[in-house]
This record gives sequence, structure tokens and C-alpha cells, in this order.
Amino acid sequence: MTGAAAIDAGTFDYIVTGAGSAGCAVAARLSESGRHRVLLLEAGGKDSYWWIHVPIGYSRLFANPRINWMFESEPEPELEGRTMYQPRGKVLGGTSSINGMVYMRGNPADYDLWRQRGCTGWDWDSVLPYFRKAEDQERGGDAFHGSGGPLRVSDQAIQWELGDRFIAAAIEAGLPANNDFNDGEQEGAGPFQNTTNRRRRWSTATAYLRPARRRANLVVRTSSHATRVLVEEGRANAVEFLCDGAPHVARAQGEIVVCGGVYGSPQLLQLSGIGPGALSQEFGIPVVRDMPGVGADLQDHFYVRLAFRCTKPITLNDVANNPAKKLIAGLQYLLFQKGPLTSNGICAGGFVRSDPRLERPDIQLNFSVWSFAERSHRGVQPHPFPGFTISAVHLRPDARGTVMLKSPDPLAAPAIRFNFLRSRDDIAALTAGMRLARKITTQPTLAPYVAEELLPGAQVTSDAEFEAAIRKNGVSNLHPVGTCRMGADPAAVCDPRLRVNGIAGLRIVDASVMPTVPAGNTNAPTIMIAEKASDMILEDAHAA
Ligand SMILES: Cc1cc2nc3c(=O)[nH]c(=O)nc-3n(C[C@H](O)[C@H](O)[C@H](O)COP(=O)(O)OP(=O)(O)OC[C@H]3O[C@@H](n4cnc5c(N)ncnc54)[C@H](O)[C@@H]3O)c2cc1C
Repeated sequence: MTGAAAIDAGTFDYIVTGAGSAGCAVAARLSESGRHRVLLLEAGGKDSYWWIHVPIGYSRLFANPRINWMFESEPEPELEGRTMYQPRGKVLGGTSSINGMVYMRGNPADYDLWRQRGCTGWDWDSVLPYFRKAEDQERGGDAFHGSGGPLRVSDQAIQWELGDRFIAAAIEAGLPANNDFNDGEQEGAGPFQNTTNRRRRWSTATAYLRPARRRANLVVRTSSHATRVLVEEGRANAVEFLCDGAPHVARAQGEIVVCGGVYGSPQLLQLSGIGPGALSQEFGIPVVRDMPGVGADLQDHFYVRLAFRCTKPITLNDVANNPAKKLIAGLQYLLFQKGPLTSNGICAGGFVRSDPRLERPDIQLNFSVWSFAERSHRGVQPHPFPGFTISAVHLRPDARGTVMLKSPDPLAAPAIRFNFLRSRDDIAALTAGMRLARKITTQPTLAPYVAEELLPGAQVTSDAEFEAAIRKNGVSNLHPVGTCRMGADPAAVCDPRLRVNGIAGLRIVDASVMPTVPAGNTNAPTIMIAEKASDMILEDAHAA
């Protein structure tokens, strides 16, 4: 596609590519004053699909090509050659429109580590104001929580008997009680909070974009796939995109802000000749800047689930498998906005250290009131009986992977390689997490609810058997980050103000800039990054 043949889509102060967790927040903040003309390009469509907004609809979004990129990784050598299914939102709100809605910030030390790695201004004390700015905490604001921000954060609207039992059993097993994982102290067991208003999902499209869309200075274009950033004399000044298949070009007088996510952002840069020079040459793309770091440093959490058959029909499986219960739940939701449909099912959990010598937790336990026979690109299939799941998530895996073009076709998926489980430490941490999860289920409060351990199964007891189960069943926790890493070192893609090194007028703002993955879910940290980046972009514009 060349600029000359393309339809002129106009000139803007800022062009934001990708309306995901970060992109919606950035576009809303940059257009807030009314002074700047902002174009937001999103490859997917509007978020009008009903199940996006109903918390239980999460499982219906997991493998739905209508709103999901449905990537698949390359075979993983240490995981019996299995590929890792990678859902990603392709819709307004991006992955915040299809994710599990757990609100988690990570550990303060994660951000202090960012600063120690050269990311000045990203330590915990500096990022906390942006977590607070984004937040509308149902429990009210305090030193750690914001009130009145765009992003609703709430407790589960439904009290799950099993969730309460899990928390009590975890305390019996020796974990401290923790009612708030986001106040700087992670360790312990307790209830999870969600990005919902108790009834509906609160994606960034709902939180940020919906109130901003009335603004005359914000243009939102869906079905608009950015295919190249044009750079002239070292400055990014236009974006080419395909809208319903037709080539378009939009020009930027200020900046181009790439918010395509951990797969979309490195791909767009590589398609633009900003990436590993040899890769560009292999696909006949003129090299604009040789940057080996673009697409490198992919990191993700890795988890193994323990699935249990439950003795009582009190799980979400029982709603899904019983037409009468399903009907009642549907009516409860439609008439009163209450009941199981208000829940994501991931109601509780905990943070623990896999080894007492560690300074902070490296394992997250997620407790879900459902269990499934299959969860892949074919969809989610609950077990045909009552069940629950405890996932042991390793928060600091040693694996580093890549995201690289497979083809010069901008609509083709990139090659994703995680290289999971290359270290003994990864296996040891997960084994400890799984043993602890099992121990919790044997405590007096929870044991009566366990009919059978389905996965990995009670026969798995030795370290070797746990390792085999991890290699067979472990998967990506869907928190990939780091493919356009910020830093102060020569290999970093962008500087700590998120400006792409060596290219003026180009920033990256999304999960791909994280230098290391935080010890928690990644949506809230991505929104924090968007809030902070928006301030930096506006500050730099005023200073210019
Ligand atoms: C199934 C699932 C469950 C999850 N559960 C949780 C959870 O419970 N809690 C949590 O905190 N995190 C969760 N996460 C992770 C979290 O949602 C993501 O880390 C976060 O949304 C990433 O935000 P982002 O802005 O980097 O990318 P995205 O939100 O993916 O945004 C990227 C956007 O860019 C668009 N785009 C990409 N390329 C182009 C292009 N070339 N042109 C135009 N548009 C483009 C995409 O369509 C998308 O809208 C989950 C993730 C998944 C997949």
C-alpha cells in the first residue's frame, strides 16, 4: 500500500492506533481538554455484542472470532511441543472487553524494580497516583485507592459459598488473611475485586471512551487496521490503515501513539521498518531503524490448574449444565441485575512465596467456582458435573520470548514464541504452588467439598510427577508484556517517557512497554501506564 493511492483520512494532532485497555484511556485523556484533535483507529468493531458486558459472558468471548484475534503461539519445546492459545480483544476496549476482569496491580517492589532498571519515574510512589486517578473504588477512596475515576472496581456481587470456604481453608493452611491485595501488601488469601460495577463489565471502552465519544475533537474509526507508520526525516508523521479493505492515510502534526498491545505494537513497528534490520530485509521492508529489541523480551505468567469435582451442586458448572437453573439465572439478571451472571466466577485467591527465603510472593492462587474439560481456541467446555479450580500462577518466570513477523502481510498473525520452562526454578516454584493449592483443599473447611482431584490427580505426588504434569498441562496465563520494552539501555525500544528511541513523534503506550511483568494481573497496570503516558504526552506538548 502506498500513501499516494490511499484515501486521505485527515490531519490530527494525535493518532492513536488500537482502542484497547491503553488506547481508549489515552484517546480519552488526550481529547479531554478539547484543544487537540485526536484520531483513534481500532482494527476491530464496536463493543455491541451483549455478552461483552455481562460478567459471566467472559467464557463466550474466549474463542469468539467476532471480537477476538485468536492468536496461537509457535510450538513450545519444553511443553511437549504444544502451542499456547492467545485470545486478545479485537473490539473497542481491546482485551479489557474480553478479559477475566480481576483487578490487581501487582507488588510495589515490581515498580521499584522498573526504576532500578533505568525507568525513572516508574517506581511505586510515582505510579500509585495514576492507579488512583484511574480508579473508582466501590469501597471508597483512601491513600491507596481512588474514588471518582473512570474505572469502576467492585467486590463480587454474589457471595460464593465455595469462595468463602477457600479463603478460610487457605488461612487454616497458614496464609494470612488479606482483604485487599492492592494496598501494597500482597501476601495472604482473600476475595478478589473486579473491574465491574457489580452488574456489568467496566472495560476501558465503557470507562473512558463512552464519555469521550461526544467530543467533536475525537474521531473513533473502527474496522480500521493500521498497516504502517510513515517516517520522514526521522519523524513519524502519518499512519496508513485499511478501513473495510480500502487503503487510507491519516497525518499527525503532533504524535503517533501506538497502543496495539503486546502482539500488535511490535508487529506494526516491524511492518514500518522499525525493528530487527535482518527481519525487515527478509520481508523486503525498507529498514527505517534497525532495532533488535522490537519484538524481543516477551514475558508472561505461566500457570497450572488443579481441578476438583465438587460434592455439592453449587458451582457455575451447575448453572451452565442445567437448563432450569440457566433460565432462572438469566431472569435474575435481566429483571434484577443479580445472580450468577454478575460474576466472573474467579472470586478469591491468594499470594504466596514458593520458597520462604523469597522476599515477596511469586505465586498467585486463583480460585474459580467452575472447572472445565476444555479451554482452547475451540472454546470453553465446563465439566458436566459440579467442579472448581485452583490455578497456581508463577509470577516471575525466567522465560523470555519473541514476537516477530511471519509475513509482510499486515493482516497475517505474527510468530509468538514464549520459551516457557527453560529453568529449574520455574518448575520448582510451580511445584510448590501446586502442592500448596492441594494442601488448602485438604483443610477441614474445604475438604468436605472435594469429591475428587481431577487434575493433575491424587496419584501425582513426587517432584518428577509434578514436573510431568506442569509440562503436560501448564499454559500461558494470558498476561504477556515486554515486546517494546522501555528502559535506559541501548536494547530498550522506548525511553522512560515511552518515546521510541531514534524516531521523533512516536510513542508506544500499552502492556508491551513493561520492562518486567508485574506480580498480578496486567489490565490495571496497563491502564496506569496509559494514564501516566497521557500526562507525559501533554506535558511534552506544552513544553515544546
Ligand atoms: C482471556 C484473558 C483474560 C484476562 N484476564 C485478566 C484479568 O482478569 N485481569 C487483568 O488485569 N488482566 C487480564 N488479562 C490481561 C489484560 O486484559 C491485558 O494485559 C490488557 O488488556 C492489555 O492491554 P493493551 O492495551 O496492552 O492491549 P489490548 O487491550 O489488547 O489492546 C490492543 C488494541 O489494539 C488493537 N489493534 C492491534 N493491532 C492493531 C492495528 N494494527 N490497527 C488497529 N488496531 C489494532 C486491538 O484490536 C486491541 O483493541 C486477560 C487477558 C486475556 C486474553
